[in-house]
Amino acid sequence: MTFRTQILTLYPDMFPGPLGTSLAGRALEEGKWSLDTINPRDFATDRHRSVDDTPAGGGAGMVLRADVMASAVDHALAQQPDAPVLAMTPRGKPLKQGRVRELAAGPGVTIMCGRFEGFDERIFDARPIEEVSIGDYVLSGGEMGALVLLDACIRLLPGVMGAACSGDDESFETGLLEYPHYTRPQKWEGRIIPEVLRSGDHAKIDAWRQQRAAEDTRLRRPDLWERHRDVPDQSPSGAQ
Ligand code: SAM
Repeated sequence: MTFRTQILTLYPDMFPGPLGTSLAGRALEEGKWSLDTINPRDFATDRHRSVDDTPAGGGAGMVLRADVMASAVDHALAQQPDAPVLAMTPRGKPLKQGRVRELAAGPGVTIMCGRFEGFDERIFDARPIEEVSIGDYVLSGGEMGALVLLDACIRLLPGVMGAACSGDDESFETGLLEYPHYTRPQKWEGRIIPEVLRSGDHAKIDAWRQQRAAEDTRLRRPDLWERHRDVPDQSPSGAQ
């Protein structure tokens, strides 16, 4: 089944961008996912093809018009009624691996990319839209956020990473950060790969990895560590 993505953007040339190379690019060529861009400007009703206007109440910047964006969203919903509509916004729910897994298991996504000061608030009442943030910082547009979200989903699609790498023990999947990795040479600038990893004893290696994952999470991400200790279900689906 193809994971169908529709991107509402004023800058369609930004897609597939980096997702046209490497794993995602190959998966796109193989039809594991598809990409359609929808330009809200095509739904403008005036002769200047305006998509934005000045903020009600005054102030700097411009705001994306609800009527124009709604027409673009309706068009996207008509193409793919079963896909969730996400809007990239800094105030949205922070994107987590659990939500990425849910999205990747679905039919696809429609993503609205904001620009300027963002969207007229009324669009969020008028249409079924889930606001998503990729972090506590402000981008100049939603396109980079959409690329991040898509990349995270695409690598989880069946057959994209290959059977050898399920991603199940990667950071956030278990609620913890992943353990550290090493490769040859065995000794580099006086630093030696931990002996246990050279022992060939898989039970010991697993125990060492679990212990390092826990220790690194506690030190680097106390917020994740606290949640991990509080939540009994540590399976991938429980790692929201
Ligand atoms: N006025 C908005 C605010 O202060 O929250 C910022 C608007 S930002 C300059 C323009 C667009 O970039 C937003 O509408 C959104 O689509 C996108 N964007 C910026 N930061 C983001 C983030 N952290 N996560 C997701 N999208 C973001």
